[in-house]
Amino acid sequence: MKYNPTIGIEVHAQLLTQTKLFCGCPTRLDSPALARRRDRARQVDWKAPPNTLTCPVCLGMPGTLPVINKKAVELAIKAALALNCKIEKISNFARKNYFYPDLPKGYQITQYEHPLSRNGFLPVSPSQGGKVMNKKIRIRRVHLEEDAGKLFHEPDKSLIDFNRCGVPLIEIVTEPDIGSSKEAYEYLKKLRQILRYLNVCTGDMEKGHFRCEPNISINYGTRTEIKNLNSFKAVEKGIEFELKRQAKILESGKKVKHVTLLWDEKNKKTQEMRSKEKAEDYRYFPEPDLPPLIISQKWIEDIKKTIPELPDAKVERFIKSYKIKEPDAKILCEEKELADYYEVILRLHRDAKLVTSFITEEFLKLLHEKQINIQDFTLPPEELAGLFNLIKDGTITRKIAKDVFPEMVKTRKSASLIVKEKGLKQVENKAELEKVIKDVLKEHPAEVDRYKKGKFQLLGFFIGEVMRKTGGKANPKLVNQILKQTLQ
Ligand code: ADP
Ligand code: MG
Ligand code: ZN
Repeated sequence: MKYNPTIGIEVHAQLLTQTKLFCGCPTRLDSPALARRRDRARQVDWKAPPNTLTCPVCLGMPGTLPVINKKAVELAIKAALALNCKIEKISNFARKNYFYPDLPKGYQITQYEHPLSRNGFLPVSPSQGGKVMNKKIRIRRVHLEEDAGKLFHEPDKSLIDFNRCGVPLIEIVTEPDIGSSKEAYEYLKKLRQILRYLNVCTGDMEKGHFRCEPNISINYGTRTEIKNLNSFKAVEKGIEFELKRQAKILESGKKVKHVTLLWDEKNKKTQEMRSKEKAEDYRYFPEPDLPPLIISQKWIEDIKKTIPELPDAKVERFIKSYKIKEPDAKILCEEKELADYYEVILRLHRDAKLVTSFITEEFLKLLHEKQINIQDFTLPPEELAGLFNLIKDGTITRKIAKDVFPEMVKTRKSASLIVKEKGLKQVENKAELEKVIKDVLKEHPAEVDRYKKGKFQLLGFFIGEVMRKTGGKANPKLVNQILKQTLQ
């Protein structure tokens, strides 16, 4: 049966603030607020123990009042602007009521009828059958809300950690514009990338900083929602599974139920969690303890100025100004910090072709192997420019640079010092090279014979042998030249 998928996605992204949305409790281990509290309590621990990042406000004690975190509002506006949304000058908070142990107040403060922003879009370009499509996914709204606590279920009891209560989130809701699991993946990747560029959210899915809940239907029928998708892979798999499940139900003549499903990562399938609640179940009403959120045009303009060049624009500029290929530009712009690093090198060393190939190959390979994030990589880009200068002025070969680079990372010594200490300088002495070449030709009479009979591709083989004998230090141009002469 041919079916027509319709998908809309809700994302909850944790805002990178130091403190919670309505109180001064720390949200992060590295926050100054937490450092102060740690000193006071002498609780030096790498991970905050359960229920230590709480106060009467986020625990919902009677008589306490919420106060909005300005930084959270700023980050939410920043994200909304980057997603091309219209910012509402006046928005309101609402109470979403439900009774569950992870919610000490008995309600969550969110935005309902009057969200912070609406009507945005995110362009994506998924490829379909080898063709790249351009598509705009419409963003219905971006609003602010607080997170709930975390439950841990054990056989005979359940444990509650309230540390996450009141942590600021933005919810980003799309229109049902997404047509496949692949498109969902593209949308989420891009959304996450932008939030990371903006420093609005870490995007860390494993830690729950970026949570995706797709809503899925086929042939304009009833939709279901999937929760607990903790990786991009899981989102793709979950959607695929759900599309097939719904198709099967329709084929057997039954009806899809309006339910919330839970992704079971171990068995790679969805499980019915509960029947889908309706808005009236939550008895939404305006939050009486918070005034309307009023945002001035001036503030919006000020925030706009802090938005950095975003990935699409950056990729385009890299292609144009550095004359590099699109796939390379995309790799370089994957993370803002890598793009910045690349550009610092290019200011000092102009050969974009060399820098691009070295960064996208050797550089990223080493970071991957050593499991270093570019954000934590401390070798200054100036040092790498130094390495590239050595290649350019003929001191070392590109092949040798490959070995010098990890040495620089390990020892922190400059490229030129490593080259000097290890004697890696390129062999450009003609007499010396001629001798090595003679030896190589003597050792391979059969190949020389074949070359003479017209098998000229063997030149590469000879060059390789010369390189091997010189430990990669021979000047490739010179070797090529002398070899050809000698063979002739
Ligand atoms: P809820 O109150 O359940 O969160 P919303 O109306 O806010 O419902 O929609 C949530 C998400 O569901 C949105 O991303 C929206 O695009 C998506 N959605 C709406 N209708 C459909 C549908 N028929 N099929 C798939 N997704 C849908
Ligand atoms: Mg929902
Ligand atoms: Zn608190």
